[in-house]
Amino acid sequence: MTIDLATFAKENGIKYFMISFTDLFGGQRAKLVPAQAIADMQEEGAGFAGFATYLDMTPAHPDMLAVPDATSVIQLPWKPEVAWVAANCVMEGVAVEQAPRNVLRKLIEQAASKGLHVKTGIEAEFFLLTPEGNEISDPFDTAAKPCYDQQAVMRRYDVVREICDYMLELGWGPYQNDHEDANGQFEMNWEFDDALRTADKHSFFKFMTKSVAEKHGFRATFMPKPIEGLTGNGCHAHISVWDAAGDAAKTNVFAGDGEGHTGEVGLAEQGKYFLGGIMKHASALAAVTNPTVNSYKRINAPRTLSGATWAPNSVTWTGNNRTHMVRVPAPGRFELRLADGATNPYLLQAVIIAAGLSGIRSKADPGPRRDIDMYTEGHTISDAPKLPLNLLDALREYEKDTELQAAMGNAFSSAFLKLKHDEWNSFTRHFSSWEKEHTLDI
Ligand SMILES: [Mg+2]
Repeated sequence: MTIDLATFAKENGIKYFMISFTDLFGGQRAKLVPAQAIADMQEEGAGFAGFATYLDMTPAHPDMLAVPDATSVIQLPWKPEVAWVAANCVMEGVAVEQAPRNVLRKLIEQAASKGLHVKTGIEAEFFLLTPEGNEISDPFDTAAKPCYDQQAVMRRYDVVREICDYMLELGWGPYQNDHEDANGQFEMNWEFDDALRTADKHSFFKFMTKSVAEKHGFRATFMPKPIEGLTGNGCHAHISVWDAAGDAAKTNVFAGDGEGHTGEVGLAEQGKYFLGGIMKHASALAAVTNPTVNSYKRINAPRTLSGATWAPNSVTWTGNNRTHMVRVPAPGRFELRLADGATNPYLLQAVIIAAGLSGIRSKADPGPRRDIDMYTEGHTISDAPKLPLNLLDALREYEKDTELQAAMGNAFSSAFLKLKHDEWNSFTRHFSSWEKEHTLDI
C-alpha cells in the first residue's frame, strides 16, 4: 500500500514531517520539512551531508538523500502537527550500503528469498534521571529490591501512562509496564512484529520516551549502565521466524510440525540452526548488540545491589532460565538477552538475521543446553566462550569473524569497525581519575 504523504498531511493536519534516519552509532538524525514541500521530498528525499553524521563519509562526498519510507509514518501523539517518517539513505541513485536501515532491509530480503520472515519483540529498558543525567529522578526510589515496586511505578505514573497511552493510540498493542530491577528503571512492552517494523518502533520508542520524559522535567536514558552498582539497561530480543510477513504470517517455522515436535531445544530444525548461528557468532555480534565502552560495564559486571545483573557473561543457552545469554522460554521462540540499550535498533535486528541465516546455511549446532544457574554455577563450565570483556575485544572478535562481516555487508563492516576503533581510541586517550588514584604514588 502506497501512502501519499501530502494527502496524509491534509487528512491529519500535519504541518511538518521529520524525515529521519539512524546513523551507525544509533544517533537519530532528521530534517524538519514543511508539509507543502513533502511531495517532492517523498520522491527525491531530503539532502544531508553524510560526513556530519556517523556514516564513515568524507566532506567531499556528494549529498546523501534520505528517502522517506511512507509506510513507517507516525503522527507524533504528543505533537500531532508533526509526523515522523523513517527514511532510506541513497547517494547518486544507489542505496548507501553501510546505512543501518539498508543493512537490515537487505538481510530481510535474503531471509525472505528462503521463505523465512523474522519477527521480533524487544524490551527496551530505560532509566528516568534528573535532567543533568547524574542521578535517578525519584529520591524515594531506594528499595534494595525495587523490581515491580508498585509505589515507585505509581510515582512515575504520569510519564509511564502517557507513553503507554500513545502506544495504544498508535496500535502497537502495549500490554504491560513495570518498575524494573534498578532504582529509577522502567520497562514497557508492546507486541512483536516484523523485524523492520520492530526496528522502526524501537527507534520511535526511544525518541518518544525521551520526549515525554523531557516534558515532565526528567531525562530518559537507555545507556547500558548509567548508574554504577545498579542493574543496567538491557534490550532483550524475542525471536521467531514465520512463513510470511505481516498479517499473512500463519505458521511459526520455529514451532515444529504442529504437534509440538521441537525436541530438546524447543525449536524445530531451522530454529535450532538459527540459534546455532547466534551461538557461533555471539562473541563477534556483541560488537553490534553491545556497541559502546559502557556496554561492558553491564555484561561481565559484578553482582548489583538488587542481587543479580540479569545480564549474561558467557555464550550459553538454556530453557526458561534468565541467567544465560539465550533463553528458550517456550517452544517456537527464543530470547537473546545479550543486547543493551545502546544497540542500534536496525543493526540489532540485522545482526540477529545475519547470524541466524549463517547458522541455517552451515547447519550450526547450538551446543548443549545448560540447565544451571549461571550466576552461581557458571564457573563449573569450561567449554563455553566468555563474552568479550570490553569494546576492543568485541571489535577484534568481529574482525576475526569474516563470515559475519560478509553477512552484514563488507561495506557496512569496514565502516563500523573504523568508526568504533576511533571511538575506542578516543576512550583510551581519555585521562581518568582511576589512573591517578592507582598510579600517582607508584
Ligand atoms: Mg527487563
